Amino acid sequence: MDLQLKEKVIIVTGGAKGIGAAIALACGEEGAIPVIVDRSADAADQLQSQLHRRGAISHFIQAELGDPANCKTAVDEAIRTFGRIDGLVNNAGRNDGVGLERGDPERFIESIKDNLLHYYAMTHYSLPYLKRTRGPIVNIGSKVATTGQGDTSGYAASKGGVLGLTREWAAELLPYSIRVNCVIPAEVLTPLYESWLKTFPNPEEKLRTVLAKVPFEKRATKAAEIASTVVFLLSAQSAHTTGQEIYVDGGYVHLDRALT
Ligand code: NAP
Repeated sequence: MDLQLKEKVIIVTGGAKGIGAAIALACGEEGAIPVIVDRSADAADQLQSQLHRRGAISHFIQAELGDPANCKTAVDEAIRTFGRIDGLVNNAGRNDGVGLERGDPERFIESIKDNLLHYYAMTHYSLPYLKRTRGPIVNIGSKVATTGQGDTSGYAASKGGVLGLTREWAAELLPYSIRVNCVIPAEVLTPLYESWLKTFPNPEEKLRTVLAKVPFEKRATKAAEIASTVVFLLSAQSAHTTGQEIYVDGGYVHLDRALT
């Protein structure tokens, strides 16, 4: 299947590590040009070397996305460099554990800035360019919005917001033929996930317990498996798919608990 992504300029927020890095690599494999927007310069440098070894063109923009002004700067730099944006992947985020009882309103707002506000800001500032190319948008959500987790109100509210905004933008952007979809992971072994595991007294035991509850093959989803779904949704081959929430989670959220 030809995904028709050659030379397409795709912005990937949080693209230096984990799921975002896998998306950048998958874009590179399809001949697209990933524009990695992330605060982690070292990780981005390593990833860019990997991409360039594989013959891909890429670009890194260092940005702290919690500040909307930085989102505008990042979009402006992408346009200065390539003159176009053909797709946007809103991915950066962190399960930061700002709870109800063990949080406070100030930290809740910070969590919303770190996990949700930049989805809006990046999309808002990219929109004039996406309109020119009919460039699709893929938002990365989390199962936490659907299942809850406990002690993570800011992240849950943000990821719930991501679901709401996916439908809202899919509706608002119909006149421009811009598709908007959401890909929802559950358990993916990324640097973020590994640092979360380390908060438990026995991380290996915790991982075993979690993975035993994944219905399909009792394993974590690979970042590359999230990425291939994202790349498909960015491609012309998904030209009539919009407003969808797609769970790439080995059946974690929807299959019967009795199966595990
Ligand atoms: P990750 O391993 O931490 O990678 C995310 C990258 O984004 C990191 O380089 C991180 O930088 C960067 N980043 C995060 N917030 C940023 C900000 N405000 N400004 C600039 N850069 C920022 O995370 P991941 O596990 O791949 O997660 C990617 C997305 O998937 C997130 O939206 C997450 O909520 C979602 N998700 C992941 C899982 C999972 O199991 N891993 C499950 C459900 C949903 P630093 O390393 O410096 O923070």
